[in-house]
Amino acid sequence: MKIHKCAFCGADIPPGYGIMYVRTDGTVVRYCSRKCFVSATRFKRNPRKLAWVRKQQKRQS
Ligand SMILES: [Zn+2]
Repeated sequence: MKIHKCAFCGADIPPGYGIMYVRTDGTVVRYCSRKCFVSATRFKRNPRKLAWVRKQQKRQS
């Protein structure tokens, strides 16, 4: 199994976790959690402007 990255926050998604979302144009995007999924699809937030995403990315690198 390939480990995918969250399209919103960039975190690693272990196999069996997260949400796979297929857009109407056919592109597949993966999100690590419902928080990321809702932020990206319903609220159309910019991940670069969110404090909790930046904090998470800083911890990873
Ligand atoms: Zn995420």
